Amino acid sequence: MRISDIFYSLQGEGFLAGVPSVFVRLAGCPLRCKWCDTKYAWDNKAGRQYSINEIIQAVQKWSCKFTVITGGEPMINPDLSIRSDFPELLKQIKAQGKHITIETAGIAFIPALPCDLMSISPKLSNSTPADPKLSKVHEDSRLDLAVLRELIGNYKYQLKFVVDSQNDLSEIHQTIKEIGNVVPDRVLLMPQAVTRDELLAKSPMVAEMCKQGGFAFCQRLQVLLWNNERGT
Ligand code: SF4
Repeated sequence: MRISDIFYSLQGEGFLAGVPSVFVRLAGCPLRCKWCDTKYAWDNKAGRQYSINEIIQAVQKWSCKFTVITGGEPMINPDLSIRSDFPELLKQIKAQGKHITIETAGIAFIPALPCDLMSISPKLSNSTPADPKLSKVHEDSRLDLAVLRELIGNYKYQLKFVVDSQNDLSEIHQTIKEIGNVVPDRVLLMPQAVTRDELLAKSPMVAEMCKQGGFAFCQRLQVLLWNNERGT
C-alpha cells in the first residue's frame, strides 16, 4: 500500500479536533482541488510502499487510541490491490483497540469497514481547479450523491464543507438537501485556508455563516498551530 506519511499529531478538524491521533496518509487523489493543502499526496507514487504489517508497527509507535486514515483520498486508488488491502488494514488497526476515523471526499463507497467515524468533506464548486484538463476530471467526480447517501446511511459520520466565501452557503444548503436525510448536527463549516493568516482572516465570516445556517464551526488546528506544516 502506498503511504505518503505516518505521523502523530492532534486531530485538527471536526468533532474530534484537539484529540491526539496517529495519521496514516495514503497516497493518491484524483480530484486536484485548487486549494488542496496536501498536494504532495496527490501522486499515486508519493511516499513509499508499506506492507500492512509495517503500517501497524508504525501506528503502534505511539500509545494513542485514535487513528486517522487520510489522504489523498483513501477510499479510492487506481492500484486495485487497495480494495482488498484497505479493509484488511482497518481490521488489523481495529484489532489493536483503536478508534478509526476515515477522512474522505465522499467519492467512493466501500461497505462494512471497521470505521468509527466517516469524516466526509463533499467538494463544492469553489474547489474546481482552473486548468481545463484538471477541472473536467474534478467536475466529473467531485460530487456523487449516491455515494454520499451510502456513506451517511452506513457509517457514523460528520460532513465538513470548505467555505471560501459567503456565496457558498446556498450551495451548501442545496447539497445537503440533495443528499437527503442529513442530520444537521453532523454538519460543520470550515474556512478555506492553507495559512494561519488566511484562517484568521476568514474565520469570523465562517462563524457568522455557521450561526446563520445552524452549523458547527470547524477548527483547523493544523493551520492555526503549525501553519499547515507537513506532518501536523
Ligand atoms: S479531495 Fe482532499 S486530498 Fe484530494 S485534492 Fe481535494 S483537498 Fe486535496
